Amino acid sequence: PQLERLCVHESVSTKIPVEAFAEAFAELDVPVDIVDDDEAFDRTDAVASFRPRDAFLDAGWVHCIRAGYDEFDTAAYETEGVPLTNSTGIHDTTVGEIAVGYMVSLARMLHIYRDHQNENHWFEPEYERPFTVENERLCVVGLGTLGRGIAQRADALGMDVVGVRRSDESVPGVAELYHPDDLHEAIADARFVAIAVPHTPETEGMFSTPEFETMRDDAYLINVARGPIADEDALIDALDVGEIAGAGLDVFETEPLPADNPLWDFEEVIISPHRGSATNRYHLDIADLVMEIFDQYQAGEDLRNRVA
Ligand code: NAD
Repeated sequence: PQLERLCVHESVSTKIPVEAFAEAFAELDVPVDIVDDDEAFDRTDAVASFRPRDAFLDAGWVHCIRAGYDEFDTAAYETEGVPLTNSTGIHDTTVGEIAVGYMVSLARMLHIYRDHQNENHWFEPEYERPFTVENERLCVVGLGTLGRGIAQRADALGMDVVGVRRSDESVPGVAELYHPDDLHEAIADARFVAIAVPHTPETEGMFSTPEFETMRDDAYLINVARGPIADEDALIDALDVGEIAGAGLDVFETEPLPADNPLWDFEEVIISPHRGSATNRYHLDIADLVMEIFDQYQAGEDLRNRVA
């Protein structure tokens, strides 16, 4: 059946303003309802949500507004024959800029200067400490939307960009590709290592003690993907003993990051609150994608970003 309604689940408020998001569908020729956990669905309903709910399996199509859909039970969608789509493909600029922001700050010490500014303190660092990102090696692990967004921007800054990818097809801005089996070789010489793979059984704990030992002592880990891909206890240990120099982290095993987590206290760790994709027009980017897939559904075409 055709879709007769678009339901915006209130959980989208985790990342975007619900009302503004619903209003962004003014051009859609079906009504848009903001729904909560009491709502029931049928096959004429489309649902856009941040969080999964069992009741969504009664809908005609479900869109996860996140790129990472690891919380959704894809097998259940396949069993029910309900298409599930995600929001990959729209975070290259937003998350790419955050990753570049961490790297430039870590290299030029902006985060340290701000720490001292908080104390009205004119801080002059050791001569050896600041460096340019230009000519430094960045290894991007995973070259989908995020990875390409990071690689392209790092390349524009004159960085020496290498990447880890399952296929050997070349990627713009990436000088050299390594297979995931050669992860250690790929990260051994890098000053920055950026994680941009999804969280899957295969990638969980992909970075742990052996990887931190392999990385340079003066290397920085950038994680903008998902917390569990880098084992947090191992990361804290590696930072403690100086196996790596620091990190830029947007994602954590537990979010919000608990106040007593040791990661907060490292001078060379920059923490952002899983807002790598946050901008004042994020809701419009997602709405454009949802409308594109909505039209494909109504036309009986293959759905962009279908994950189940
Ligand atoms: P994407 O699907 O466009 O890209 C993921 C890439 O990783 C694909 O090219 C895939 O082939 C590759 N990959 C998967 N497993 C791999 C492995 N074992 N080794 C090497 N490569 C592997 O997704 P995306 O939009 O780039 O997002 C990636 C992840 O980043 C999401 O799953 C999500 O968890 C996270 N994310 C975080 C934010 C944020 O706000 N911080 C925003 C968007 C996405």
